[in-house]
Amino acid sequence: MTNILLEGKNLTKSFASKKKNKRIHAVSDINLTIRRGECLALVGESGCGKSTLGRILVGLSSPDRGEVFFDGIDIFSADKKTRLALKRQMQIVFQDPYASLNPRMPVGKSIEEPIITHGLLPDRQERQRRLEELMEAVGLLPELLGRYPHQLSGGQRQRISIARAIALRPRLVICDEPVSALDVSVQSQILNLLKDLQEEYGLTYLFISHDLSVVNFLANRVCVMFLGKICELGDRERIFENPLHPYTELLLRSIPRPVPGSMDPEGVPLLGDMPSPLDPPEGCRFHTRCPYSMERCQKKEPLLIDYGGRKIACHRYG
Ligand code: SF4
Repeated sequence: MTNILLEGKNLTKSFASKKKNKRIHAVSDINLTIRRGECLALVGESGCGKSTLGRILVGLSSPDRGEVFFDGIDIFSADKKTRLALKRQMQIVFQDPYASLNPRMPVGKSIEEPIITHGLLPDRQERQRRLEELMEAVGLLPELLGRYPHQLSGGQRQRISIARAIALRPRLVICDEPVSALDVSVQSQILNLLKDLQEEYGLTYLFISHDLSVVNFLANRVCVMFLGKICELGDRERIFENPLHPYTELLLRSIPRPVPGSMDPEGVPLLGDMPSPLDPPEGCRFHTRCPYSMERCQKKEPLLIDYGGRKIACHRYG
């Protein structure tokens, strides 16, 4: 058995746009692996393609080109029965728990639904016990099972979404900006919960976020994306200590830091707009914003190469 749980090969996805003959290039020729038991963070500004890539990797959206293997099984070529079994192994926690739960259904029913759909625990009492166990696992009282989403706080709703995601005992959970809609005070509680559950259930995470301080808490490896491409990929500690790609450097400098004598933390703002995914720039896609841009960067696209134990796509290296 290899230590690779999920592998995406040459993944490309574009969407139709309102502009005639133009397509939105969301993900362009990406190769990515997720190791068993790790938390791999996908980071980048909004519009960089990280959520689209996450949806493809979990099988919610099919790529235009490329393949995804879960434990060696090609998820898009698998037969219906295998795909249903794979669905159980891969779950997703969305950014907005309010939108991901049925507002007309008590939250207990929402957690129970996938258990019934997958034909697990046919005995009602056993199911009830499992629901109570799940509530305990996510730090909520079983009494809340009968409440509706609007009767809970944002943090409680996200805990319910997490309980629903782990109800089928998946191996991989994709967390798509799971704390960005929550108050700062609640964010750390949810992050601690995700960390505890990872240990307790032996979960593998793909953690999608634009917030690098959140990623620093949870991730083992970090994959930085810009306009549908990977810029840099490597161990979290090394990337945070010594970012090599100019875009990673800028992202890290933008993390708000405490300012002596002020209540408001400050970060260096990211300069320049994201180029349009309808018309990605020639050469390096980051060259219009890069402080180190050279002539070559405008003509030739840098390849993602191995460099000092990490992967990087920049003409300054290799
Ligand atoms: Fe900057 Fe050139 Fe490297 Fe792109 S390839 S990040 S433009 S130095």
